[in-house]
Amino acid sequence: MSVVTRFAPSPTGYLHVGGARTALYSWLYAKRHNGKFILRIEDTDLERSTPEAVQAILDGMSWLGMEGDGEVFYQTKRFDIYKKYVQQLVDDQKAYKCFCSKERLETLRSEQEAKGERTKYDGKCRDLSESEVAAHGDAPFVIRFKNPLGGAVEFKDSIRGDMSISNEEMDDLIIQRTDGTPTYNFCVVIDDWEMGMSHVIRGEDHLLNTPRQINIFKALGATVPQYAHCSMILGDDGKKLSKRHGAVSVMQYRDDGYLPQAVINYLVRLGWSHGDQEIFSLEELFELFDINDINNSASAFNTEKLNWMNQQYMKSLPAEEVATHLQWHFDNMNVDTTKGPKLASIVEIQAERVKTLKEMAEISTYFYQDFDELEEKAAKKHLRPVAKEALIVAKEKLAALDNWQAADIQAAINATAEKLELGMGKVGMPLRVAVTGGGNSPSLDVTLELIDQAKVVERIENAIHFVEQREAAQ
Ligand code: GLU
Repeated sequence: MSVVTRFAPSPTGYLHVGGARTALYSWLYAKRHNGKFILRIEDTDLERSTPEAVQAILDGMSWLGMEGDGEVFYQTKRFDIYKKYVQQLVDDQKAYKCFCSKERLETLRSEQEAKGERTKYDGKCRDLSESEVAAHGDAPFVIRFKNPLGGAVEFKDSIRGDMSISNEEMDDLIIQRTDGTPTYNFCVVIDDWEMGMSHVIRGEDHLLNTPRQINIFKALGATVPQYAHCSMILGDDGKKLSKRHGAVSVMQYRDDGYLPQAVINYLVRLGWSHGDQEIFSLEELFELFDINDINNSASAFNTEKLNWMNQQYMKSLPAEEVATHLQWHFDNMNVDTTKGPKLASIVEIQAERVKTLKEMAEISTYFYQDFDELEEKAAKKHLRPVAKEALIVAKEKLAALDNWQAADIQAAINATAEKLELGMGKVGMPLRVAVTGGGNSPSLDVTLELIDQAKVVERIENAIHFVEQREAAQ
């Protein structure tokens, strides 16, 4: 059997973490089996669907690197197809016109509620004769599916095991509204059938829809796909993941400085495991991922683990690749990086010092632009009058270097310390604050190497000036 899976979001908001994870599972499963992964936009709810949300979902998918195979389907463009199948079910007497008015249905509902019964359509129009139907003339009607009256729907869910739902519990579902538009569950079935879906991987919030959908599949004589319903994702406090927990939109993770590779790895592990392994390359996932290994219990989101994973990826992916994502953050901060060190060099020296690319960009601006002011605490501590001589000597020695390279820079710093009989820190820290504006930076030799020689000298001069002003003020 060839594997076909899909991600079928309703475009009513951004791509959230839960949706991205089911998309990921569907995508990986298709990849693993050399199958097809379809992206289908379920936009039939015209009031809640927006073009912006469609775009946000497409952007999220593409940022994560999950492309659908072939065209993206939009349910709103498929109304003719749904209509055709509604008609087929009516012709086969597996669906029927229902003329019951809103008022009648409301009365029915309150009566059932009063008696403590399950609220459900009573089947008044289920077996109308042709002449009875004709007698309604042009009266408005919906079309209902004839759900089987007895027995149960049984299926084996890849994650939750054997399921059995009594038909008693199900209504005669409306499949076409009064205005002729098809309803949600019906469209899903027709699409899953027409698109040859072999596996439907989705959130457990759809578990109740599944038996209804299976009955429609059967009425159409279609093959029922294999279902896998994923458990919820909870926040680290054990409550359902929501905005309260911080980022829930996938694009927010980009904005917050995560690499798509890290988010993918994090999401796949959130509910799926393969031994104790934490880090998986995509190639490994394409080989190892199986829906049968998805946990059936809820998973809790853990930002610390995501941070750890992000750092692993920042350190282990080729620096050039990480740099393309880092670029986005500098651009976002309006920092021009066209002059100055290659971004890959920044990645190499900063990756172990930060958890996110956003932080990396934030602490690396001094490589590309002058700072407006010195970090107050660091300046107070390290740019004191006693540091003036160290700065003057270091500046001379650095300015005199012919080769602007880490080893020579280090030698110049050492020579300064020796000449003045100072400890390394007494030279290094004032220099660091002078050149980077603060007391934290990667090792001084490589940091200075990445900044232009003339620029370093200029910043040391500014720092000397700062110390002199401070002296004068005392
Ligand atoms: N459109 C549904 C949603 O966004 C998913 C439907 C399905 O996967 O069957 O929740």
